[in-house]
Formats: sequence, C-alpha cells, structure tokens
Amino acid sequence: SGYHRVLEENRKLYNQVQDLKGSIRVYCRVRPFLAGSNRLSTLGDIEEGNITIITPSKYGKEGRRLFSFNKVFGPSATQEEVFSDTQPLIRSVLDGYNVCIFAYGQTGSGKTYTMTGPKEFTEQSLGVNYRALSDLFLLSEQRKDTFCYDVSVQMIEIYNEQVRDLLVTDEIRNSSQKGLNVPDANLVPVASTSDVIYLMNIGLRNRAVGATALNDRSSRSHSCLTVHVQGRDLTSGTILRGCMHLVDLAGSERVEKSEVTGERLKEAQHINKSLSALGDVISSLAQKNSHVPYRNSKLTQLLQDSLGGQAKTLMFVHISPEPDAIGETISTLKFAERVATVELGAARLNK
Ligand code: ADP
Repeated sequence: SGYHRVLEENRKLYNQVQDLKGSIRVYCRVRPFLAGSNRLSTLGDIEEGNITIITPSKYGKEGRRLFSFNKVFGPSATQEEVFSDTQPLIRSVLDGYNVCIFAYGQTGSGKTYTMTGPKEFTEQSLGVNYRALSDLFLLSEQRKDTFCYDVSVQMIEIYNEQVRDLLVTDEIRNSSQKGLNVPDANLVPVASTSDVIYLMNIGLRNRAVGATALNDRSSRSHSCLTVHVQGRDLTSGTILRGCMHLVDLAGSERVEKSEVTGERLKEAQHINKSLSALGDVISSLAQKNSHVPYRNSKLTQLLQDSLGGQAKTLMFVHISPEPDAIGETISTLKFAERVATVELGAARLNK
C-alpha cells in the first residue's frame, strides 16, 4: 500500500543518513504512562524507525503524522536495549573518536531516566552514563595486551550561561588535574565503575544543592558528564585521544512569555538561547559554512570538539505519550526531524 511504500522510502533514506560518517543519529524514545495517568494516548504505530502521532482535530476527525528516525524505542524498551544500540558509538571513543550524546525533550519526558536512571535505581534500570563507563572499562581490559588507557571524568552544570563544576570536594581538589575545555572544572581520574558511581553521586548531590522546593533547577539547566580517554599503543607508543560528552539538556518546552517573570523569565531566555545556539551550530555545519557559531553559548563552546568534523553525534529525543503533551510532542519531533537530516561531516573537510 501507499503507506508502506512511504515507510520503506523513509527507512531507506534514514539508513543512508545513518551510514554517513559524521552525521547525527537521532533515536526517539517514548516513555511509558506514569502511574495514575489516563491511558488515552497520542501514539499510533511504532515500527523500527517510524512513529505515527495521532493528533486530535477540532472537526472530530483524527490527524496522523508520520516521523522517521534512525530508531524509535517504544514505552516498553528497556535500558539495556537502549544502551545496546548506543554501544558501538561509545566504544569508538577508545579508538580516538569524539562522541556527543544528547538527551532532548520537554521536562518529564524521560531525559534523566535515559542518561542516569530513575531516582531509586537497580542494576537493570541504570542509565546510559553508568553503562557507558562500565563498558569502556570492560573494553579497555580486553585490550590490555595492546593498549594502555587512562580514563578521567568531568561533571558540570550550565545554568543561566554560568558553568558550575559539580565535582568539588576537598578530596577531589587534591587529586584532580585541571580540565581541558572548561579550564576551571576538575578532571578526575577513574579506574573502575565504582569510582564512577562514587563521583556521580557527588555530582548529583552538588546539583541538588542549587534547587529549592519551588525551583527544580535540574529541569532548567544542562548537565554534562565528560569522559576523557587517552590510549597508548603498547607496540608503537602512539597516543590516541578520545572524548565523550553525555548531556542531559534543559527542558525544551516553550514558556509563554506572559506567564513568566523575574528569575523564571531569565532562565527561560537562557535555555532558549542555548538550545537555539545548538540548532544554529548544527544547521551551519549542515550548510557547510566556514564559520560555525560555536561561541554563541556556553553549551556549544563546551561541545565544540565533539560536533562536526569526524565527531559522532547521537541525539535521544524524548516524548511523553499523554494527550496533554501533544503540542510539545509535535514540536519536539519536528525539531528532531530537522536534526536527523543533517550531515555534519563535510564542514571541516571542505575548508
Ligand atoms: P526529564 O529528565 O525529561 O525531566 P525524567 O527522566 O525525570 O524526565 O522522567 C520523568 C518521570 O518518568 C520519572 O519519574 C522517571 O522515573 C519516569 N520515566 C521516564 N522514562 C521512563 C521509562 N522509560 N520507564 C519508566 N519510567 C520512566
């Protein structure tokens, strides 16, 4: 049927995009209904890289809109399934690639769940951040006869265009090196998954310090875990450097200007500024402009080495299934669709 032909064409196109080195991969993830919410859903079919959204219509007839991505994870997808599709990208850090993984979506759509996990976590519910680090240790152990790897991490928060180091304790201060991209943030050497869990707990605690009951700041700040890897080839002595940014972005929801004043308005403006600066960098790379506006926000400055060129980028786009989220869901998916068609590789090669 026509519908299936469209699906097939979409799939072909997006597989081609996926194959391009340096392109942005986009994975969409739909979170399950939360306990207590009603079961009316905006979701139609989910099939491999395609998702259909059902939009209510004023005229009594439903609308349907098909979106295509490299992959769509439905509400029942497990953390393990989500990670296993991300693993090859993460592993390329040990081969000297720069990697950037974003979580994008409105507040409450599951960004933190994907990257970190739920508040009370079990081994099964651990997010991409933990799994990525354990996997890097596992792989470096497997390669220990040929490579010697040093791994260190940085954890920062960007709130109102201010960068705050989340890894600050006296103990860390005495053992860390100074970071590369964010000169003031501690870069802490790690040797095992338990080191990482220990540091991430410090980071999460420090992040919570900025929040009050009325102001859950985590939804209005970007948080970024950066992993630096240095590998020495034991035969040739050659050094490889790779870097990975794991970014939990601020909530992408549009704020009605009339509804916010003061501190909230300032926050909203800063979020809009950095998310649109990210969009501008991506589209300028796509248009192969010789000038890429990395310096327009703290976020894009931080990620400069990991966007464009040979860097590999993955965006997890999160949506909620509830009908009252439909407006944000559609605008999130439209943004994601634009990102998905971008090819990043050529910008620097053409210079
Ligand atoms: P965000 O970071 O986008 O604001 P959260 O990750 O905090 O959203 O998710 C909101 C709520 O939904 C949390 O209680 C979280 O545990 C839950 N949640 C999100 N995604 C999933 C999922 N895939 N499976 C189960 N619960 C989820």
